[in-house]
Amino acid sequence: MTGPFRGPGGWLRCQLHSHTTNSDGDATPQGLVDHYARAGFDVLAITDHWHATSHEHDRVTVIASSELSARVPEQELEEAEVLAIGADVVPEPREHFATVEQCAAWVREQGGVPFLAHPYWSGLSAHHVLDAPSLAGIELYNGGSELANGNGLSDALWDLVSHAGRACTGVATDDCHYPGHDSLLAWTMVRAESRDQAAVLEALNAGRFYGSSGAVLHDVRVGPDAIEVECSPAVAVTLRSGPWDGGRVNADPRRMNWRGEALSRSPQGLITAARFRLPERWPWARVDVAAADGGRAWTNPEPVALDPDPSDEGGWLPDR
Ligand SMILES: [Zn+2]
Repeated sequence: MTGPFRGPGGWLRCQLHSHTTNSDGDATPQGLVDHYARAGFDVLAITDHWHATSHEHDRVTVIASSELSARVPEQELEEAEVLAIGADVVPEPREHFATVEQCAAWVREQGGVPFLAHPYWSGLSAHHVLDAPSLAGIELYNGGSELANGNGLSDALWDLVSHAGRACTGVATDDCHYPGHDSLLAWTMVRAESRDQAAVLEALNAGRFYGSSGAVLHDVRVGPDAIEVECSPAVAVTLRSGPWDGGRVNADPRRMNWRGEALSRSPQGLITAARFRLPERWPWARVDVAAADGGRAWTNPEPVALDPDPSDEGGWLPDR
């Protein structure tokens, strides 16, 4: 959660899910990279189905990657798909892996970073993540799925994975097939020491990134008794935590805040900084920012070892 806002390096705007004419995309590799270069992206992972597309570009770091498929036990579900970020080969023969874990482990063996693609769109459940320990994380938000089917956001599944005690990061992506029509919807801001592929993959593995569909996170700090967030103007800043836990600060003064307060506001009254009191039970927490235009930003969940005081029954009542 706080990792990308600390330490050395700079921010890289990364698109980690995209397709070209090497699978079912509309643009050539050159056309796709030019599109993202013009939009100001620093890094593009081309994730054609069962095809590792590499491409040299003078402005954008192109990471040869692919989108692979695995069978799932449930007959009614077609398959699961896994983003093989940084694996520059695909398996032969090009057949579905027997399980998500076998697929993710293969990606790891190639030096790649595996993320489970669009779990909500695929109809998957938390156990598909929990049964695949080699996964680095999930595609928390898939802009193309949201645009086409309204099922691009997998945050409830993400939280169930955290409830089960599993560290799991979340990337936000376009899954672009038709640049200009389903692109520039979502991206992942990676904090890396350089623009090299190795530095980007290392940061993805370490969770030094946050996903965005428009909102910007400037800082997230965890102190001894509070979490402070600085962000682009927001209608709500949310602290997600355990099943009965969390808090929210709302820009609209008619709406109550829960366990938090706004520290500063834009001239329009939107929240630009917020503070939350630390939950007394805090197995993990993450921050979620919502902008007025629907754009969001999501930090990764971070486990925190706090000793809850079981006698502190009234501790979570809000002061309003
Ligand atoms: Zn895809």
